[in-house]
Amino acid sequence: MHLIKAAHLKRQKISEFSKRTLVLKEQNIHPCLKVILVGNNPASLIYTENKKKFCLKIGADCEIIHLEENLSEENFLSTVQKFNHDQNVHGIIIQLPLPKSLQHLEVGSLISPEKDVDGFHPINLYHLLSNQKNIPFFTSCTPKGILTLLTEHGISVAGKKVCLIGRSMIVGKPLAMLLTNHNATVTLCHSQTPNLENISKEADILISAIGKARFITKEFVHAKQIVVDVGINNHQGTICGDVCFDEVSPIVQSITPVPGGVGPMTILSLAENLLESCERLLKK
Ligand code: NAD
Repeated sequence: MHLIKAAHLKRQKISEFSKRTLVLKEQNIHPCLKVILVGNNPASLIYTENKKKFCLKIGADCEIIHLEENLSEENFLSTVQKFNHDQNVHGIIIQLPLPKSLQHLEVGSLISPEKDVDGFHPINLYHLLSNQKNIPFFTSCTPKGILTLLTEHGISVAGKKVCLIGRSMIVGKPLAMLLTNHNATVTLCHSQTPNLENISKEADILISAIGKARFITKEFVHAKQIVVDVGINNHQGTICGDVCFDEVSPIVQSITPVPGGVGPMTILSLAENLLESCERLLKK
């Protein structure tokens, strides 16, 4: 069994991204990300800090705009607009989940598509659907990270049968599109899919993005399979994926560990999207 880890790739990418940041700074573009965080969701506080740390590591600026949970909708929207119009800001993220009072907003549409480094804006999603190679757009970070992780480990998805479990807007659906664009044949499964184990067993690559600890057992896999575990679950006080690792890893050809597999790739993709946003300015 081969472990598909992110650590080595992460080191390589930090070095590559730092060089790209320097080149941009020489051209007077200082990569700058604004992360809008509303309230004090404990997981969001950690995620936003991690994003900031990574940006600083590659020499980019990152500011967390920490807003009060009970701020008015008007103040929230004006904060987003201010950064949409600020020429020195190249990427904006609204950290989810938002408090209940703001959850009715179509949050994906608020950030200008050219600064939408999370890739959630309808225009960016449309470009992902249409797959026109000459149009620059942003691909959502976790799907992009998964494709990078596989590619950098010498795994091509072209011509492969992929069973993808999970149909969320941030992972499953955009990942299905991205893999299809890269010539995989994708079966997108979810909580209402019958015979999940049989579909999974027929696939060359199994990707689980469910959010249920140890859901994928030996009944889902076979010896020639590549297994990608996107899940991050708190199970009896420890972090684990969707895959029952002890049971599945001895059987399959390759597998991503949790932590240390897909997890770090999301931030790498975010940083890459930020740099791409800046580099597009140079081309204009
Ligand atoms: P979500 O809750 O929005 O979606 C979960 C999906 O799983 C749904 O589409 C649902 O249909 C499907 N599902 C639920 N139970 C199922 C079942 N019993 N059988 C088949 N399908 C089932 O979750 P999400 O935001 O897509 O995240 C999924 C997991 O990935 C979570 O553990 C999350 O923490 C993790 N995640 C990791 C990263 C990362 O950077 N590694 C990024 C995003 C999400």
